[in-house]
Amino acid sequence: SIPLGYFGGIGAASRNGILFKGSNYLDLITTVNTVVMDKTGTLTEGVFKVQEIKTNGIEQAEFIALTAALESKSTHPIAQAIVQYSGESHKQKTVSDIEEISGHGLKGKVDGKEVLAGNGKLMNKFSIAYDRQIDAIIDTIVLVAVDGKFAGYITIADQIKADAVQSIKTLHHLGIKDIVMLSGDKDSIVQKIAKEIGIDLAFGGLLPEDKVNKVEELKKQGKTVAFIGDGINDAPVITLADVGMAMGGLGSDAAIETADVVIQTDQPSKIATAINIGKKTKQIVW
Ligand code: ADP
Ligand code: MG
Repeated sequence: SIPLGYFGGIGAASRNGILFKGSNYLDLITTVNTVVMDKTGTLTEGVFKVQEIKTNGIEQAEFIALTAALESKSTHPIAQAIVQYSGESHKQKTVSDIEEISGHGLKGKVDGKEVLAGNGKLMNKFSIAYDRQIDAIIDTIVLVAVDGKFAGYITIADQIKADAVQSIKTLHHLGIKDIVMLSGDKDSIVQKIAKEIGIDLAFGGLLPEDKVNKVEELKKQGKTVAFIGDGINDAPVITLADVGMAMGGLGSDAAIETADVVIQTDQPSKIATAINIGKKTKQIVW
């Protein structure tokens, strides 16, 4: 039978918008000494806005319509920003042969044209030549190619969550020294955001399997790892972590289903709250 204190702990968590999927995780979370976090949608809002568009040998309206038509087939937050920006213009286009390449972007046929939209890795994969000065831009960028030729780029911006800085401070106060941020976004922007939030160790440009490898490495070093993420891509890492956590509001179903703990309010500060509730429950149970 489960000691009464655990019900109190699960109830207290629930009142704070934190769902523990088992009383054992209330226990386990108190032993966590390493917190690994995803960037987009976890520490940032994950709601992107188009900032700037630069085209290369293509009319801007056509560039946006082609790109948005392709992105309308993706649920990625980056894709949603581009679709929203384009308004109605993409709806006349015929899209087929969509391929979502994890950690890279999208490939597909739009009105018979071969369109690519994604990061530098995607361009390299398909041997698309583009001005390398673009790589120096510290922003999230979507590069676009049409029929094998670089057609331009879109810069988009995300916002750091209101409680992101405080959430890292509180974890430090709880004695959690090792806080790591992992992201598929490009490294220059990942390092910039890590600095702004107060995270010492951050890795960008990661493929989903690279995130898995990083967490595996930490576990091999003997760390007890909590991982928190929101995307479909984060599900394998959530499964692997000692305590897998998901953002429940904007999070993907896959992330929420595999998680041991779900933060329904999407606030990173609730990681520390969850640990504190675990600690308090322990005092009552023993
Ligand atoms: P993360 O959630 O850590 O940012 P993802 O694996 O979701 O990682 O995405 C990694 C990178 O792949 C993005 O930063 C972006 O450059 C590119 N990407 C993924 N999906 C798309 C898409 N639909 N359109 C454009 N770029 C994409
Ligand atoms: Mg994410």
